[in-house]
Amino acid sequence: MKKFAELQYVRPDMEKIFARVSGDIAVLKEAKNYEEFRNAYMDYVEADTELETSKTVAHIRNTINLLDEFYEAEMVYFNSQIPKYEILKKEMGEVIVASPFKAEMEKEFGAILIQNMEAQKQLSDESIVDDQVKEAELVSRFMKTQAAATVEFKGEQIGNYGLLKIMQSTDRAERKEAFEAWAKLYEGIAPTLEEVYDGLVKVRAGMAKKLGFKSFIPMGYLRRRRFDYTEKELEVFRKQVREVVVPAAAKLYERQKEALGIDTLYYYDESIASPSGNPVPIGDKEYLVGEAQKMYRELSKESGEFFDFMMEHELFDLDSKHGKRAGGYCTTLPQYHAPFIFSNFNGTDADVNVLTHEAGHAFAGFTAAKYQKTPELCHSTSEINEIHSMSMEHFAYPWMKDFFGEKADDYCYAHLADALMKIPYMLCVDEYQHKVFENPEMTTMERRAVWSGLEKIYMPWRNYAGNEFLESGAFWIKQQHIFLYPFYYVDYAMAQMGAFEFYTKMKEDRKAAWADYYKLCAAGGSMGYFDLLKYSGLHKVLEDGSVKIILKGVFEELGL
Ligand code: ZN
Repeated sequence: MKKFAELQYVRPDMEKIFARVSGDIAVLKEAKNYEEFRNAYMDYVEADTELETSKTVAHIRNTINLLDEFYEAEMVYFNSQIPKYEILKKEMGEVIVASPFKAEMEKEFGAILIQNMEAQKQLSDESIVDDQVKEAELVSRFMKTQAAATVEFKGEQIGNYGLLKIMQSTDRAERKEAFEAWAKLYEGIAPTLEEVYDGLVKVRAGMAKKLGFKSFIPMGYLRRRRFDYTEKELEVFRKQVREVVVPAAAKLYERQKEALGIDTLYYYDESIASPSGNPVPIGDKEYLVGEAQKMYRELSKESGEFFDFMMEHELFDLDSKHGKRAGGYCTTLPQYHAPFIFSNFNGTDADVNVLTHEAGHAFAGFTAAKYQKTPELCHSTSEINEIHSMSMEHFAYPWMKDFFGEKADDYCYAHLADALMKIPYMLCVDEYQHKVFENPEMTTMERRAVWSGLEKIYMPWRNYAGNEFLESGAFWIKQQHIFLYPFYYVDYAMAQMGAFEFYTKMKEDRKAAWADYYKLCAAGGSMGYFDLLKYSGLHKVLEDGSVKIILKGVFEELGL
């Protein structure tokens, strides 16, 4: 493989690809033996891998420079062609699921591949095409409303992004002012966002009904490829969080209040761990990447190879620059088994997080590609792939002195505590969505009352300092997952439990912990959720009593 910047991009000939995949489908239908059948499938995989790689190259270059008209036009082209391609892919899945060679295919590639195809079939039908268009329109209205929102702050119109940094200020009065402005910004767009959400809830509930689901809950689960559990098992996890994690988090917030030297911890104090603020990295981008390379070489042979590969092929774009999209992500170029990490460094601890969390995703992708037969089998669901990334954050602790100097211990304590303190909110977001879809006819104010009630259960420490808008139960509006990715948010909490378990294991035996972690990464998405947990020696958080066992080591470390 060449360096990323030197990869040549040519627009794929979609007519040719359509013809090739249609040809493969015809062979799949007529195949006389498994070998013929398999060859046709693998030909499709090859075509798909090439297409996905070209599309990803264009996507990365587009996000690096949104002002570059060439790649902007390429993305418009892909977006116009992909729906037609998706229809072909769906047809292929249907042919495979109905084929006499299904069992042999399952034997070779694993049951998960067939399950994915069956789920796809269950989720699509002519009768919901208009609803899907409507859902996409509402989602795009949400994005536009949120992106365009501004509020007056210190005599200037400022957006959400501009406020975020001031909301981390160590000056409490300034922080308070920024949070109040932030709340006002959301209050301004709340009527639109709540109307959009009402539309989304109704259109999703309607689709579920048309497809024969009892509500949108099982349909949402199937969309997320949750084959192993239902909302009943998830409630077992929630109950454990209420009983075990909420009291522990309450203690940590109490401790934080004392550290900050304040009488009452208001909502605008929650994200500040110490009076001097959160530790900042001790060097610039070049320094941090250099330290990361040293760290990954020392951590293990495999992680060293991975990071050297990333460096050699320049598979990063980390600087913040004009025209670049905000935020960060990790993606893969399947043809080259190469991950790519995109970020906007800003001089805070978030930069280090990119080099541990996003690099954890990248390492998992790089590793799975060595062992799995197809790119699809490399991709696990987020309950698993966030374990890859979050565990790497913990594996990296011994090297934090190279990133934060004297503040390394503060950083590690705050990082571990924060990982635990975030969990109740995630479950609050999750239960809220379940309550919404159990009763899609609720009014906006009824939904706010549900949120308020749950907040008191999951975040008893939360104090909105008399802000009427937030006290009315409107905080959830800021959580874009609720609009865009129903039922997603709890995956982070489930994955964090797996990461905590690796953390505890590595304290006892680093080598053994790394070996299990490596196994999990190598398995990619080739098995279901429960099987992957078992395979890598992790507990099921959906079983009563597991959370207490998993958190034992973390509680010890935090002195809880
Ligand atoms: Zn992640």
